[in-house]
Order: sequence, then C-alpha cells, then structure tokens
Amino acid sequence: MPKTILTGLRPTGNLHLGHLFGAGQNYVKLQNDYDFYLEIADVQALTDNFNNPEKVRKNVMEITIDLLSIGLNPEKVHFFIQSRIPEIAELTVFYSNLVTVARLERNPTVKTEIAQKKDLFGNNGESITYGFLGYPVSQAADITAFDGEIVPVGEDQLPLIEQCREIVRKFNSIYGKTLKEPDAILSNTKRVKGLDGNDKMGKSLGNAIFLNDDEKTITKKIMSAVTDPQKIKKDDPANPEICMVYYYHNLINTKRNTEKICQECKKGSRGCVQCKKELIEAMNNFLKPIKEKRAYYEEHPEKVKEILEEGTKKAKEKAEQQMKKVKEAMKINY
Ligand code: ATP
Ligand code: MG
Repeated sequence: MPKTILTGLRPTGNLHLGHLFGAGQNYVKLQNDYDFYLEIADVQALTDNFNNPEKVRKNVMEITIDLLSIGLNPEKVHFFIQSRIPEIAELTVFYSNLVTVARLERNPTVKTEIAQKKDLFGNNGESITYGFLGYPVSQAADITAFDGEIVPVGEDQLPLIEQCREIVRKFNSIYGKTLKEPDAILSNTKRVKGLDGNDKMGKSLGNAIFLNDDEKTITKKIMSAVTDPQKIKKDDPANPEICMVYYYHNLINTKRNTEKICQECKKGSRGCVQCKKELIEAMNNFLKPIKEKRAYYEEHPEKVKEILEEGTKKAKEKAEQQMKKVKEAMKINY
C-alpha cells in the first residue's frame, strides 16, 4: 500500500511563486508515488476571512484551477473541499481537549500571523478569535482524518505539523494507539521571499507574484521590487544578496544567466532597470505554459467541478473509516 499524503491550501487568493517553489513543485513530484489527498481548506480560510465569504467561495475554484495548471493530475490526486467533510469538524472538537490555550498562543506561526493581522485581531492580538487561535487543532484534524503520513509544506507550516504530532501523541497515550504521527516534507526552496523583501511571499501580504498575473501586472510588480538601497546610480556596484530582482532571477532563470547577473551587479556594470526588464521577460516565459493550461480549465469549469466532486467523494469515504476508529478508541461509538 502506498503511504498517504495529506496537504492543503487556503482558498484566499491565487497561487503565487511561493506556493509553486515552496510546495507545488513537490506535490507534482510526489503525486506518482502516494495516495494523495489535497484539501482546499475553506473552513480554515474562514477563520480570518469570516467577514468575506464571497472571497473564500470564489477562490475554491481559482486555486483548484491553479493547481491543475502547475501539473497536478486529477487521476492521481484527490482534490476535496474541507467543509464537505464534517468528520474534520468533529475531530477538531475532540482534539480541542488535548491542547492548552497557552500552547496555541506560543505557536510561532500563529504568533506571526496574529501580528500580521492587526486590522482583524488588534495591535496586540487582543481581539483574536477562538477559531483562529484554534486553527492548528483543526489542521491536526485535517491531517489525521485521512491518516496522513506525509505532509508536503512550506517552512512556515513546520510549527503546525509539530503541534499536530503532539496532539497525536497525546491522543494515543490516552485512548490507545490509533493515529499516525505525520512527517512534514519540505521542498528545496522551503520559503520564498516577497517582492518587498519580506521573509515570506504570502497571498494576504500584498507582496506576491501570482501565477496568473498578466504581463502588465508583472511589469509593474517587478519594476517596484526592492533592490540594494545603496545603489543610486546605474554603474554603482551593488550587493545582489539583498536584491529581490536577483533573488527571483535565481529562482527562475538559468544558472548561467544568474551567475553573469551576479558578477555584473557586483562590478557595477549592470543597471537595475536592465536587470528588471530581463527578469520581466524571463518571468513571462516561465509562466507561459502554466497560463496556457489555466486557459483550458477556465473554459471548462464543469471539468473542475467534477474533479472536486470526485475527490470529495473519495475523501469522505476515507474520513468516515478513520472516524470509526477514533470513536471506538474514545468509547463514543454508540
Ligand atoms: P495566506 O496568507 O492566506 O495564509 P499563503 O500564501 O500563506 O496564504 P497557504 O494556503 O496558507 O498560502 O499555504 C499553502 C502552502 O504553500 C503551504 O504549504 C505553505 O507553507 C506554502 N507556502 C505559502 N507561501 C509560501 C512561501 N512564501 N514560501 C514557501 N512556501 C509557501
Ligand atoms: Mg498561510
């Protein structure tokens, strides 16, 4: 039996380069060798978008199309919608007894995200909701509802997988060995930085290049990307290590071109405008095949709906089986 993969994305916007390099390319590689469940995490998206349900609804289709466009094969991957699997919500309630509020408040990912969401949760997180603070518990339910063993994710997710492992250990120690402790797998590029130099490119952070950005938008974004602030004149030598334009060249351009860019930048024989223009061209070429696939699915939304329907059916069967085991262990199998 192949091992089971469970991973997810929040339908809060389109996929960006961070998703592609941090997680998506890994999904494409892994899809051949595992029983792969891919969750469109609409319930989790609502924890910080509860006041914007239209956004979440629209992005369920959008993100599914993006994932198909980067090369995921619906014959191999079960795409499903989180809210259609009520077992996840049920498990979340059971697990919420196994984690302390203090532990959730200490989770580094939750802490960073609360700090980023001042509009919603206040300057010091004083308006944090019960639902958002508890989303790591719900994520532990996502993984274990499908007996997930391998979880391919970006680096920002590691503290959440660790929290899931703790919940699994606690569950097994009280109710007997029932759940598997999942392992995270990172890709080679485990964290992609934002156009503004931020440590993480994020859908909700306004610093992303989306895979479906049109050429005009890509030009605008790259022209305003953060470069070495010490470089004022075209022929000033600069430090490519702190330049986001060089950073993205490194991600998508050939090794040969990237080395040349690095040397010229350090010597001062390359201006930022030229460098940005070259990146724009390389980026458009890089995204072209993805956009072509996207155009196909945009024209055939019925196919995308069918893929979600089929995947959700499969996921529901798996979660029902798992739920039986959990209820038996907890002695609530009336
Ligand atoms: P949001 O801001 O709504 O949380 P997001 O951009 O963080 O959106 P998610 O849906 O939360 O996207 O994450 C989906 C997957 O992509 C996760 O495995 C996450 O670790 C990975 N990921 C997201 N952004 C990056 C990034 N900048 N670098 C590497 N991996 C990333
Ligand atoms: Mg996120």
